Amino acid sequence: MNQKKQGFKEKQSENGRFKQEKKAAIKKGKCKCRAFGECGGCQMLDLPYTDQLLLKEKTVKKLLKPYVKLEGIIGMSQPEHYRNKVNAAFTHDRQGRALSGVYKEGTHYIIPIEECLLESQKADEIIGSVRQLLPSFKIKTYDEDTGYGLLRHVMVRVGHITGQIMVVLVLSSPVMPSKNNFVKALLKLHPDITTIVVNVNDRKTSMVLGDKEQVIYGKGYIEDVLCGLTFKISPRSFYQVNHVQTEKLYGKAIEYAGLTGNEMVLDAYCGIGTIGMVAAKAAKQVVGVELNRDAVRDAVVNARKNGIKNIDFYQKDAGDFMRQMADQGTEVDTVFMDPPRSGSDEVFLDSLVALRPKRVVYVSCNAETLARDLGYLTKHGYRAVKGVCVDMFPFTVHVETVALLSLISVLPKLVVTMYVEADCIYLQK
Ligand code: SAH
Repeated sequence: MNQKKQGFKEKQSENGRFKQEKKAAIKKGKCKCRAFGECGGCQMLDLPYTDQLLLKEKTVKKLLKPYVKLEGIIGMSQPEHYRNKVNAAFTHDRQGRALSGVYKEGTHYIIPIEECLLESQKADEIIGSVRQLLPSFKIKTYDEDTGYGLLRHVMVRVGHITGQIMVVLVLSSPVMPSKNNFVKALLKLHPDITTIVVNVNDRKTSMVLGDKEQVIYGKGYIEDVLCGLTFKISPRSFYQVNHVQTEKLYGKAIEYAGLTGNEMVLDAYCGIGTIGMVAAKAAKQVVGVELNRDAVRDAVVNARKNGIKNIDFYQKDAGDFMRQMADQGTEVDTVFMDPPRSGSDEVFLDSLVALRPKRVVYVSCNAETLARDLGYLTKHGYRAVKGVCVDMFPFTVHVETVALLSLISVLPKLVVTMYVEADCIYLQK
């Protein structure tokens, strides 16, 4: 047999083996969840938890190797049902029966799911009850193709410590028939629900939430306690989904910052102000910047609620805000940055370099964009000192990483800027 033929045969049997292994893995995963291999949510469900941790650590280590050494990975002792926020997409079968679940990865096809190993069991129960109540209230689920029907999604958020529960009904129109009776019926089944909000999303979009909201029961938000502080969380504000691991993540971020009480701190991408408020206890002054208006409003209320006076919040693009700070000559000692999965943009990184904080604590939910941004910052006057992974998303391929960067140069600002612009080798060392 010539080499070409031999290679082809080997490839075929390799493919065959791969297919068989995949089948076996799916079978293994399916013992835990019927939707394994289809929904795409828990890519690692077939692996023991310790193997998941090893795999994540290895992957991040490899990505960050050119810049920083990892301290390790912090896992969970009970890695199931950690998600305190659950989004269920609604549809119906051919007989018109309501179904709810998640989108099959990369599609708009909804895979029906009644319980999920990742999600809060309480949230799943409530979503199940909504599904059951729909026919008696003649509420139709939304059809993406025809645009007909009312209920698009249900989002449930559970306060891990407070137990407060928010249900958000995402509708295609603001008119909900027998709204009051529906609320009564749902509360009868789940008296622990503390607030119900109608969110109107009338656009053809893959975004879950629309811009309009109406509170139909309770306060319209929940509160939760994180790192000993109380936070108000509105439907459209970001709040970390894994409470247990968030406390460990923030603990590491604060440890890396090494605050002494004299620092001017910037919390960039601050959400409802969580990291900044935890840091405020150990800093002189904190400023938080965030794009989402609702989150900033929550942050302001949260600072007041916790009696934290040395913190201010601004609703702005984080990069533009930092550029302004740098132009005005504001001195910032420490920047916490916690960008979305896409990482930071050039405007942000450029402004960060111009601002020249002594320390940057980078909290990242995507090690690929973290590696890219570390590449930029280590070429522009910073050294990556240490890093650690925190497993915020067991059973998935995702993981959080905290990295500490410190400013290499102690030269005056003007000189450093010149050197940085000239891409000076001295600063790149
Ligand atoms: N640090 C917070 C939030 C992190 S999530 C926490 O731990 O809870 C990232 C946040 O960045 C979101 O709240 C999002 O609204 C915000 N965001 C996204 N792009 C932004 C930008 N360009 N400028 C400022 N904030 C932004």
